[in-house]
Amino acid sequence: MRKITEIILHCSATPEGKDFKAADIRRWHVQGNGWKDIGYNYVIDLDGTIEDGRPLYMNGAHTIGHNANSIGICYVGGVEKNDPKKPKDTRTIAQRESMYMLVHQLLSVYDLSIKDVHCHNEFAAKACPSFSIEQFRNEYNKWMEDYLRFKEKEKEDE
Ligand SMILES: [Zn+2]
Repeated sequence: MRKITEIILHCSATPEGKDFKAADIRRWHVQGNGWKDIGYNYVIDLDGTIEDGRPLYMNGAHTIGHNANSIGICYVGGVEKNDPKKPKDTRTIAQRESMYMLVHQLLSVYDLSIKDVHCHNEFAAKACPSFSIEQFRNEYNKWMEDYLRFKEKEKEDE
C-alpha cells in the first residue's frame, strides 16, 4: 500500500445543481484526457452519496506533485449555474456532511490530522474546490464538536 500523508479536496467544476456522477467524470478523464481511470479517489454526489473513484492503492491524478501520497476527494459542482467560469462553493448540505464524515474516517484510518487536509487551490493557481482551506477547517472543527457531543449522548443513552 502506498503511504498516504495528505487528503486533497476538489470540485468537478460543473454548474451548481447539475447531477453528475463518478461515471461521468471517469468518462471525461479516460475518453477525454486519455487517462487510465478517473483522477479522483472519491466523488461526492449532489445527494451526498460517496462514490469510489480510482482505487486507493493506485496513485490518483488530481494534484500535480502530490498524487503519489494523497487521496483526492471531489464534490460534484463548484461553479455558478449560469456562468461556468465563476467559481462558487455549491456544496449541498448532504455533500458537506458526507465530506466531513469521509475526511474524518480517512484521518483516523491513516492517522493524520486536520492539518493534513488541503485544497487544490493551495498547490495550483486554480479556484478548485471553490472554498479556502481555512473555511474548510473551521467548518470541519465545528462539525467535529457536534459529532463528538452526539457520540457522547449516544453512550449515555445505552
Ligand atoms: Zn482540483
